[in-house]
Amino acid sequence: MKRQHDPLRLDVAAFTGDGAQLAGRWPGASLPRLAESQNPPQDVALAEVDWAVQGERRAVTGGEAELWLALQVQAPVWLTCQRCLQPYALPLVLDRRLRFVRGEAQAEALDAETEDDVLALSRSMDLRELVEDELLLALPIVPRHSVCPQPLPMAVEADPLPEGEAERPNPFAALQWLKRVKPDGER
Ligand SMILES: [Zn+2]
Repeated sequence: MKRQHDPLRLDVAAFTGDGAQLAGRWPGASLPRLAESQNPPQDVALAEVDWAVQGERRAVTGGEAELWLALQVQAPVWLTCQRCLQPYALPLVLDRRLRFVRGEAQAEALDAETEDDVLALSRSMDLRELVEDELLLALPIVPRHSVCPQPLPMAVEADPLPEGEAERPNPFAALQWLKRVKPDGER
């Protein structure tokens, strides 16, 4: 069953300026990109996504106030273990502080020089997309159980040579070449 979900538009400047807060819960299927990157067991529904945002306006002496958004998200996601190839649930828990500044240029410059995530302030922002972006960024590159629940199939356990290994020059071949060029070499 597909349902259309309206974007949750947030006026970031007003929201952060007021120190407003908002929280909610979305069905897992309402975040399509996150849903696509999941692989739940058969007949298991995607878990719901719990979220909360809190705006903050930090006064700066002699300057423009800083606008911040604290974002907390909890979402168990179903991934495929890359070792045993079975689905497993990973509880994603995010606690992010995002700073908003005027203009892409300033956002990029600040983002590069500070630890904080800096975004350009836009008139309105789709909160659902922001939450989904942050969740996608938090997914492990190589998902796997810390301990696989089942014995590994042989093919996986065999741990084949990484790709490109065969292309490395044979060290003995290189040695032969050295000997030919410098027959009196010490090595
Ligand atoms: Zn596993």
